[in-house]
Amino acid sequence: MDRPTYEIVGELSRFDERDSLFSRERLIPSSPEEQAYHAAHPELSEIDRRIAAFIQAVNQPEGSTSQMDAALYNATFGPIVGLALPDIVDGEVAVTRAEVSPAAMAARIKALARRLGADDVRIGPLNPAWVYSHRGTPPFFSDSDHDYRPNPPHFSGLPEGYRDLQWGDPVEIPHRYAIALAFAQDRDLLSTGGTPISDFEVGRAYALAALVATQLAAYVRALGWPARAHHLRNYGVAVVPVAIDAGLGELGRCGYLIHPRLGTNLRLACVTTDLPLVLDPPVDLGIQDFCAKCGKCITNCPAGAISQGAKVVVRGVRKWKIDPVKCLLYWGHLGSACTICQTVCPWSRSRVVRRVSMHIPFARRFLVWADNLVYGARFRPAPPPVWSR
Ligand code: SF4
Ligand code: SF4
Repeated sequence: MDRPTYEIVGELSRFDERDSLFSRERLIPSSPEEQAYHAAHPELSEIDRRIAAFIQAVNQPEGSTSQMDAALYNATFGPIVGLALPDIVDGEVAVTRAEVSPAAMAARIKALARRLGADDVRIGPLNPAWVYSHRGTPPFFSDSDHDYRPNPPHFSGLPEGYRDLQWGDPVEIPHRYAIALAFAQDRDLLSTGGTPISDFEVGRAYALAALVATQLAAYVRALGWPARAHHLRNYGVAVVPVAIDAGLGELGRCGYLIHPRLGTNLRLACVTTDLPLVLDPPVDLGIQDFCAKCGKCITNCPAGAISQGAKVVVRGVRKWKIDPVKCLLYWGHLGSACTICQTVCPWSRSRVVRRVSMHIPFARRFLVWADNLVYGARFRPAPPPVWSR
């Protein structure tokens, strides 16, 4: 396609990472950041306080998360923080530039990314509208050294020599291109549905994504071109629209990217750069029509977070939008990421559904019916694997 399937209906405006629920949940009560944010957004004060208290209560040492489960979480999500350090996601660029044709370089980048562990890689333009406007996460430091957090800062206070952005600083990423990376999750582990095991699998995919993105960015910088990795613990761009522009898939009703081979069962990362590369076009897989006829994630979402209604306009883009507060409160209730909408999505389950839907559009209603018949209309959690019991 010559353009992505989301609809631009107004002026695009950049997302402020401070507005992300994951950023708000980490605001330390009475800290200067928390006071500044809620002075500007008093209507969010109560719900943010509720979410933070809820999630932290579940994750407290004496909370409902067992030591065995916490160990699984720490094994996967924990080391990602080290890959988020400023000198790891970005860094010095080699003085000498390798001169290679954009087509040959794009082919090499894709081969390397796959060899490093990505399940798919495509290259698109970096729309400046997808660059965050302000930094919202405090990943490495905190003014408080007594506050227990599920994702604790690694330092108390600002480390000497720290040179990355701090909370509230404007974000500037002037790169022209984005290398979008997809990482598959194990469907059997994800199907345990909102358990420490599905959470483990989410963290495993995110950790691999962080490693590959940082390795790829280091490779490009060694070729003499600027490059910055974006992954779970250090985003400077919104990776879903970046991936859509690169043609990795389309946005589904459940808020996840839907990939032609992996469905929604994946995690994303990307590398932004100025390295000249041949770009891939965006794709139309028929997802907008399929989701309009399906709605299986709506009926299975335990939090009622997925909209039954029409698309809405968000910062200039008309799209389906989930309710992140309901979703995250449910995660807090579980003590782990939920993943049910990813698991029940017919595009995640069946190669036949994906193939037939892409090539025979009028069969889509039938495919939804057939998916319900074969796999059931309601989510049934799979038992955890033997090794985890
Ligand atoms: S992750 Fe779970 S709670 Fe969140 S939207 Fe999906 S099904 Fe609903
Ligand atoms: S479950 Fe159905 S409606 Fe939801 S994202 Fe998947 S295809 Fe779209």
